[in-house]
Amino acid sequence: RMRPVARALLSVSDKSRLIDQARALADLGVELISTGGTKRAIAEAGMPVSDVADLTGFPEMMDGRVKTLHPAVHGGLLGERDLPSHVAAMSAHNIAPIDLLIVNLYPFEQAVSSGADYETCIENIDIGGPAMIRAGAKNHAHVAVCVDADDVDAVLAELREHDGLTSGTLRQKLAHKAFARTAHYDAAISNYFADIRGDMAPDYRIQGGSLRQSLRYGENPHQTAAFYADGSDRPGVATAEQLQGKALSYNNINDTDAAYELVAEFGDARNGAKPTVAIIKHANPCGVATGDDFVSAYRAALACDPVSAFGGIVALNGLLDAETATEIVKVFTEVVIAPAATDDAIAVFKKKKNLRLLIAGDLPDPKAGSLTYRNVAGGVLVQDRDNGHVAETDLKVVTKRAPSDIEMADLRMAWKVAKHVKSNAIVYVKDGATAGIGAGQMSRIDAARIAAGKAEDAMEAAGWDQPKTVGSAVSSDAFFPFADGMLAAAKAGATSVIQPGGSIRDQEVIDAADAAGLAMVFTGMRHFRH
Ligand code: 5GP
Repeated sequence: RMRPVARALLSVSDKSRLIDQARALADLGVELISTGGTKRAIAEAGMPVSDVADLTGFPEMMDGRVKTLHPAVHGGLLGERDLPSHVAAMSAHNIAPIDLLIVNLYPFEQAVSSGADYETCIENIDIGGPAMIRAGAKNHAHVAVCVDADDVDAVLAELREHDGLTSGTLRQKLAHKAFARTAHYDAAISNYFADIRGDMAPDYRIQGGSLRQSLRYGENPHQTAAFYADGSDRPGVATAEQLQGKALSYNNINDTDAAYELVAEFGDARNGAKPTVAIIKHANPCGVATGDDFVSAYRAALACDPVSAFGGIVALNGLLDAETATEIVKVFTEVVIAPAATDDAIAVFKKKKNLRLLIAGDLPDPKAGSLTYRNVAGGVLVQDRDNGHVAETDLKVVTKRAPSDIEMADLRMAWKVAKHVKSNAIVYVKDGATAGIGAGQMSRIDAARIAAGKAEDAMEAAGWDQPKTVGSAVSSDAFFPFADGMLAAAKAGATSVIQPGGSIRDQEVIDAADAAGLAMVFTGMRHFRH
C-alpha cells in the first residue's frame, strides 16, 4: 500500500549535511522541493530542485516569515493517501503528496545562548518549520519526518534496502522525535520570555532540556535513568568538563551537585574567599572545613568523619593544587569537583584512572533563583530553590551572653553547612571545621546525639583528648521545639547555638540556654531540606 518515496521537501537552517544528503536522494530518483536558501544551495551544487514558491504560487514574503504556510504544502503533507475523500481533494486542488520532510528549525536556542538582542531572538522563532514538522509527523502513516541529519541517514539506508520504501516503525519513531523537537523548541521560547520578564512563576516555566548523558542505571540497578541539561548554564555538574574517570552515575551526579552547591556558599577562593572543602556521602556532608589553604581544609574536613568519607565526593571552592590532590587520592574517592585545577593537580589524578575529575569553570551563585522539581504520586511539586541568605544584620542575639567573635564565625559556618544537610539537621563547628554532623533524623534530639557520637568517633580515630564538639558552635536547620535537643548539644560541649527561632516554646528554650551559659542567635529563616 505504501508508495515509494517520490517527493521530498527540504527546508533547513543548518545546511552542513544538506548537499550530500540531497545528492543521495537525487541519486535515488527522489524529486526535491525547497525553500529559498535551501533551494539555492542545492541548485548551486548542480542538482535539479524546484521552488516551494512555484508550488504555492506565492513568493516567500515578510522576510521569510511566510514561506511554506500554504495548502499546497500542508495538503501534500497531511493528505491521507488511502482515504478517497483526501485523494479527491488533493486531485481537485492539484496538491501533490510529499513523502519525506527534512527540516531543521531557525536556531532560536543558539540565538539566545549567544546573547543576541531581543529582536534577533524573536525573528529566530520559526513558524512554518514547526507547522510542517507537526503536519508530517501527524501523517506518519505516509510521511517520514527528519528533524535531525542523522535521521536522514537512517531513511536513506531504508530507501536503498527496500526499493524506495520506509518502514512504519521508522516513521513512527521519527514522528515521536519530531513532536519532542517542537515541544522542546516551544519550551525554549516560553522559557526565554520567563527569563527576560524575570517571571519565575512555575506555571510559566516549562521543564525541558537536552540530553546530557544516558546513565547505566538510576538510583538502583533496576531503574533506568538519564541526565539532562536544563539550558540554564548554571555552573555545576551538568556544565562541568569531566577530565578523567569512569562515567558519572546517577548517585554520583546527585552527590556531586550537593557537594558543589555547598562549597559555593563560601564564595570563590580565587576571589579571596576562604579555601573550603566539602566531602559528601549520599547527598549529605560528612565533613566540611575552611582553611588557610586547600590541603589543610581537606585534612580538617576528612577528620570530621574519616569512616564515612570512604567512597565520598569532594568539592572545592577554588583552584585545586597538587598537594591537595595528593591528599585526596590517599582516600578512595568517587568524584572530585572544583572550578579549576593546576596541571600538576591534574597529573596527580592520572594515576587513579577510575576517579572522576570535574572542572566546572565557575561556582554556582547561591543567591540565584531557579526552580526545583519533585515527583509525588500523580503530581509534581515545584518551588523556588532555597536561595535564602541570612545577612549579619538579620542575626538576633536572644541570650544574656552574646557569642564571641570566634563563636560567631563558627556559628555562621555551621548555619551555612546545615542548609545543605537533610532535615532534621544538627551541625557542630569548631575552628572553621565541622566537628559532627547529624543528618536526616526524624527527631532533632537524635540528630544532636548522632552528631555528638560522630565527634567522639573522630576523637578516637585521631587520638585527640577530647571531641571537637567541646567549645563548638551548633546549628539547627529549624527551631528547637523543646529545650532537650539544644541541651543535648550543650552536653556534648557546644557553647553557642544558631537556629531560626519561632517556636511557641522559644522562651523556654532561651531560658534553658541562659541557665546553661550558652550564647544563642536566631536567624529568622529556616532551611528544611528533604
Ligand atoms: P531557507 O534557508 O531554505 O530559506 O530557510 C529554511 C528555514 O526556513 C528552515 O529552518 C525552516 O524551518 C524555515 N521555514 C520554512 N517555512 C517557513 C515559514 O513558512 N515561515 C517561517 N518563519 N520559517 C519557515
